[in-house]
Amino acid sequence: MALKIKFRALLTMCGDPVENGELIVDAGNVAEISTPSENDAATLDLSDCLLMPGFVNAHCHLGLTALEKKLSPAQSFADWIRALISINSSLGDESRVRGIRAGAEEMKRSGVTALGDYVAEPDLLPVIDELGFRSVLFLETIGFQSEKALELCKNIEEILKRDSLSPLGRLGLAPHAPYSVSPDLFRSLGQLAHQYDCPLSCHVAEIPEELGFLQKSDNSLEELLRERSAWDLEWKPPGKSPIEYLNSLNILERLIAIHCNLITADLDVVKLKKVSTVFCPKSTHWFGRTDFMPVRTLLDRGIRVALGTDSLASNDSLNFLQELRMAEKLLPDVSRKEILTMATLGGAEVLGLPCGKVACGQKADLIGFRIPPSYSGSWLDVPFEPHRHKVDFYMVDGSPSTLLTSDPSN
Ligand SMILES: [Zn+2]
Repeated sequence: MALKIKFRALLTMCGDPVENGELIVDAGNVAEISTPSENDAATLDLSDCLLMPGFVNAHCHLGLTALEKKLSPAQSFADWIRALISINSSLGDESRVRGIRAGAEEMKRSGVTALGDYVAEPDLLPVIDELGFRSVLFLETIGFQSEKALELCKNIEEILKRDSLSPLGRLGLAPHAPYSVSPDLFRSLGQLAHQYDCPLSCHVAEIPEELGFLQKSDNSLEELLRERSAWDLEWKPPGKSPIEYLNSLNILERLIAIHCNLITADLDVVKLKKVSTVFCPKSTHWFGRTDFMPVRTLLDRGIRVALGTDSLASNDSLNFLQELRMAEKLLPDVSRKEILTMATLGGAEVLGLPCGKVACGQKADLIGFRIPPSYSGSWLDVPFEPHRHKVDFYMVDGSPSTLLTSDPSN
């Protein structure tokens, strides 16, 4: 049944704001945006709200949410991974699932309607799929020994063949990083992504140690692999940057590259190969990084940038409104409009999801912020207001949720 939603203002993210109008949602889609009409659909009165597309959290690891506040930035990246592996392996299934559900609630409260999640354990796919986000669930794969590539790929292909996700969910592939995936595994996963037409993502150029690993000038990640019996004696450092290396393996085309803190020298090939990127503001801040993704330059070059929370192993919250404010703090030369675009349309385009803007025929994934009657500022400023920790209206695929509150100060 069609639903009419009256609004005070609407940020479409693909045109000018619309004021004092209404939109009709029908069969999960936005069917009409107009000034008040005689349409007799059931009416939801949000005439005190700013509506906009729901946020797209383009990079997360919900399976690590139970690590909340258990880790702190370590002396080295390898030490942080050591601590992560140790605490993560001691987690029971129950606390992991509890963490996933709590993390999802926090994201929803803060307006996330669509999600790109790295899923390291295939058993968790149904748990994450049923949370109700529009999503790409990336099968995260680690394996530095070439001899294991074939078997790992077979297992991944079984999951792709079975694909039992809900209509809102889609599978993707995520070789973890250049220092944790063998060249053979990268190539095979790239071929599978092509064969099954699914998005491919990877953590890329996150840390100087990764560049040193590929150029044999830093052995901290090699030591980590050796002590975990995961080292490959046949490995020959390619002497390339992470982006050049992935290009040589034929998997750079349309890759969704996470972090990209150290890619300034590779921007031509990033642009040429239509790589999209995901910036994780609070994770970047948590690690205290001073060299991080050159977002202004990427936007100027027409390279897609989305926003992500990353996991609670390197962030203290999955609240997406906090990510917007941290993005503004870290990127003084990027406007609020651009940050909101990265958080909505940019994320949708990066993940290939039919959301991120409010337009006729588009999926009805909407959020709303209650506005005091006296409000006279820019609509673009509302999500950045420091007192806002949650949204007042939430809808995925045309189904409103019961997040509406009666307290306009929230
Ligand atoms: Zn990550």
